[in-house]
Amino acid sequence: MRLENKVAIVTGAGRGLGRGIALRLAAEGAKVVAADMEPAAETVSLIEAAGGTASAFKVNVTNQEEIKSMVRFAIDTYGTLDIMVNNAGINRDGMLHKMPVENWNLVIDVDLTGTFYGTQEAIKYMREKGYGRVINISSGSWLGNIGQANYAAAKAGVVGLTKTAARENARKGITCNAICPGFIETDMTLKLKEVNDGAAWDSMMKRIPAGYAGKPSDVGNMVAFLASDEASYITSEVINVGGGMIV
Ligand code: NAD
Repeated sequence: MRLENKVAIVTGAGRGLGRGIALRLAAEGAKVVAADMEPAAETVSLIEAAGGTASAFKVNVTNQEEIKSMVRFAIDTYGTLDIMVNNAGINRDGMLHKMPVENWNLVIDVDLTGTFYGTQEAIKYMREKGYGRVINISSGSWLGNIGQANYAAAKAGVVGLTKTAARENARKGITCNAICPGFIETDMTLKLKEVNDGAAWDSMMKRIPAGYAGKPSDVGNMVAFLASDEASYITSEVINVGGGMIV
């Protein structure tokens, strides 16, 4: 129970990676606010069934006022905030030369600006407290990926934001790190199984040295470590969880 008496917020916790992260943090003893624009009640039920403590909170991460309310909710409900995981994200893939500006703006708003709001609001509180862990979910695509100009730009922005937040707050007892998942089995990636009768999925598996897609718990394990006191000297890092896919 490395996170006993700690309080965490996980955005995008209604399903996929966010749910896996929320379950892992709760299993380590953290009280978790499962925040999502969709209902996160199932995530809360799973945590409670396993003996943990969690509450759902409805938030659209592109709305700064809602992010402020979310942080306030965690503090009012559980007394403090120790761990902020900015995980909510979307993709709208397409080649750059055909990309509608709406798809550019939407992905930047959710994946980058949403992470900025969450990081900023958590850090305001954590600076007062003199302790905090911010973990931002970027992607291996931040290095550039065909069909993902908007997503790659947003996720590279998350890396720059995280490294800056880390340096500005290192003397305040706050660590900030980014995790880059490779290819993890969630609704975001499972849609590839529909493309070319599964051929696109099979070809992706060949690109992963481990030979298979990761599970949300693989990312949850890394988040739990970075959130723990064992990781107190680790900050400003970008850590891949990708079965060898990200180089
Ligand atoms: P997902 O689509 O399965 O789940 C995303 C969750 O975020 C959903 O519950 C959704 O409701 C929520 N969400 C979306 N927009 C939101 C908003 N504006 N406000 C609040 N919540 C919102 O996706 P996932 O695969 O679980 O991805 C989670 C994160 O991991 C994303 O940031 C994604 O970019 C990143 N990521 C995923 C993979 C992967 O292989 N699955 C790889 C690299 C990075």
